Amino acid sequence: MDFIPVSTPSLTSEDADAVAQAIRDGWISAEGPQVKDFEAKFSQAVGVEHGIAVANGTAALDIAFEALGIGKGDEVILPSFTIISCLSHVLRSGATPVFVDALESTWNLDPQQVKDSISPKTKAIVVVHIYGLPADIDEIHVLANEHGIPVIEDSAEAHGQHLDGKPLGSWGTVSTFSFYSNKLVTTGEGGMILTNDETVAEKCRTLRNLSFNPERRFVHDSLGWNYRLTAMQAALGLSQLARIDSLLEHKRSIGRHYQELFSELDGVALPLASHRGSENVYWVFGLVLEAGFHHDARDIMAMLHERGIGTRPFFFPLHQQPVLAGYGFGQQRSLPVAEWLGRQGFYLPNGADSTPAEREYVAAQVREVLQK
Ligand SMILES: *Cc1c(COP(=O)(O)O)cnc(C)c1O
Repeated sequence: MDFIPVSTPSLTSEDADAVAQAIRDGWISAEGPQVKDFEAKFSQAVGVEHGIAVANGTAALDIAFEALGIGKGDEVILPSFTIISCLSHVLRSGATPVFVDALESTWNLDPQQVKDSISPKTKAIVVVHIYGLPADIDEIHVLANEHGIPVIEDSAEAHGQHLDGKPLGSWGTVSTFSFYSNKLVTTGEGGMILTNDETVAEKCRTLRNLSFNPERRFVHDSLGWNYRLTAMQAALGLSQLARIDSLLEHKRSIGRHYQELFSELDGVALPLASHRGSENVYWVFGLVLEAGFHHDARDIMAMLHERGIGTRPFFFPLHQQPVLAGYGFGQQRSLPVAEWLGRQGFYLPNGADSTPAEREYVAAQVREVLQK
């Protein structure tokens, strides 16, 4: 068996045709009509009024924070167990990150800790739906409304997922998506901001495009970025979006298969199959070794690599990132669940090309190396 990569994108000849057609039609920059079409169809699918397509999911978050006016003296509550993109702009803008721990069951942020972290300085709450399982964003939604605090809902790992029948990405004041090559829907590199707030949407559009003054191009009252998505990428996104149901069903069928293969596995935590009635969409399929396991994740991953199996470690907890010290936020209080996930978690091959035979091989090898 060839080396099994941890992730492969789902790309069809229809995808290729869609990109080629954009080029044949002469649309390659962000000016192409494909971009507005993708914004309209994606935002409609999530049930949100405005969609702003951007260069990637990190750009979406940068713009969202800036559009909400996060800056010096503000506090932003965010999960520790997530990607650096949720923290970068908080630090650069001079705001203060307030980290909360994950729940041991869902690996998503703990709403009670969010509640306990709210202060008069809280200017935003970041919610991330980790690895395809919905966070308890309904509770955060109520809490945030009570206090008048905007919520940034990072749905980069949960396209097409729901909580209580309401699409993820429609709960936040602003929500963000990524379309990186390993995401559930991809444009290669790409992202989207969604919001029902017209003023915020307009700010996001301006910030995405260098903050050109609408009256006079090349005049700038504020600083933006060039974070535009190209027409070629949007064409790919439209093609992917047209088959999102089968993309998600494929991930779910891989996840269900691994759940079966790993039933009765000692010493290891598996992803929840569902949370509050929403089946996991298994953006990735993670395993977490119990604390005190006789190997750490790094050893297990190295042994799997020798057996031709690609893996990735989980996120490294944000509250322990070396970069914090440089921004004046040194030692943070311990967040044991995020630390456990970061140290003991890794994920297995579940790309579009993953076959049942490969997964059986992966599961057998995992069982073997865990016993070593
Ligand atoms: C992938 C990801 C991002 C960043 O998206 P990019 O397109 O890679 O910049 C942000 N947040 C989460 C939760 C992600 O998984």
